[in-house]
Amino acid sequence: MFCVKCGNEGETFDGLCISCFLNGKELIALPHHVDLERCASCEEFRSGGSQWSKKEQHRAIEDAALDALTAISGLHIMSAGALAVTQDPRNFLVKVDAQGELGGRIVTAEAETLVRIKNNVCQKCSRQLGNYYESTLQVRSGTKELPTDLRDEAVRHVRNRIESMSSLNRQIFLTKVEEVPGGVDMLLSSNSLGKALAKELSDHYGAEMKESSKLVGKTEDGADMYRTTFLVRMPEYHLNDIVMYEGRAYKLAGISKDNGKLVRLGDFHTMSIRRTQMSSLRVHTAYGEFRKATVVSRSKEEIQVLHPVNYSTVDIKIPEDAEIGESVDIVDVDDTLFFVP
Ligand SMILES: [Zn+2]
Ligand SMILES: [Zn+2]
Repeated sequence: MFCVKCGNEGETFDGLCISCFLNGKELIALPHHVDLERCASCEEFRSGGSQWSKKEQHRAIEDAALDALTAISGLHIMSAGALAVTQDPRNFLVKVDAQGELGGRIVTAEAETLVRIKNNVCQKCSRQLGNYYESTLQVRSGTKELPTDLRDEAVRHVRNRIESMSSLNRQIFLTKVEEVPGGVDMLLSSNSLGKALAKELSDHYGAEMKESSKLVGKTEDGADMYRTTFLVRMPEYHLNDIVMYEGRAYKLAGISKDNGKLVRLGDFHTMSIRRTQMSSLRVHTAYGEFRKATVVSRSKEEIQVLHPVNYSTVDIKIPEDAEIGESVDIVDVDDTLFFVP
């Protein structure tokens, strides 16, 4: 084939050799301007109908320009870089340099566009700001008021989990935390989130869990919309408490989905009991309320401590591998002191 313009022989494009074809041609193009939406609430960005995402502003501006880049057919873009120049706080002139391959030849090309930042509110923030929620996670105590530290611990757990989950799925959020008589309510973005967190709390604390749904209206596409309430009823006991079980004192050393792990005070014998048996546990001393006793001496299986009340010296058994400092945690069960493992 011959080039109709210069007469050179070889492969042709639209009748032209590659040199004549490329001469003066715009290989890549950008629109006059690109609108980059910025959520005024969470400061995430979106352009050209893409997903909202968290980025540095300069990255968002450059990406918005690169996403709008088009190339003539036959050009295979291998790399492209963008450089933004600030015109004013909302407008940025972005130059794009691209390198590509066309008809076996490496070519470079440039284009520019104006990226304009537009404030908006993303759906997640508008829902959150509008107090949208689909499920309620209620944390209560079985008997009396939910202790403040346990309430705060549960709320902290939920907040941490939502923070890490929302980095993968931005539809996940916590709408509100409400202190209510007897406990705390957390309003959540979805039923599945409520269920997952209720299950986690229930497994972590050995808590009872109940679920109830209420029809609250229709969704945008006409389906029935339910709001589900997940009630997590905290047991009286907490991990690391000293508990009474069948007349003896144990440390509650583990709680899992199916069972609890007990370590007997005195001989440190370990046993596991089913979740259903755990309702018979009675708290003797909560984990934050152990007493300290000063250590006077130690042997392999025993230490001698000063009784914290009458200052007599008392021998108490310790596990063989126990690390003993200047003082140890102890509990008094029916006038006998025990080392807390
Ligand atoms: Zn030619
Ligand atoms: Zn937002």
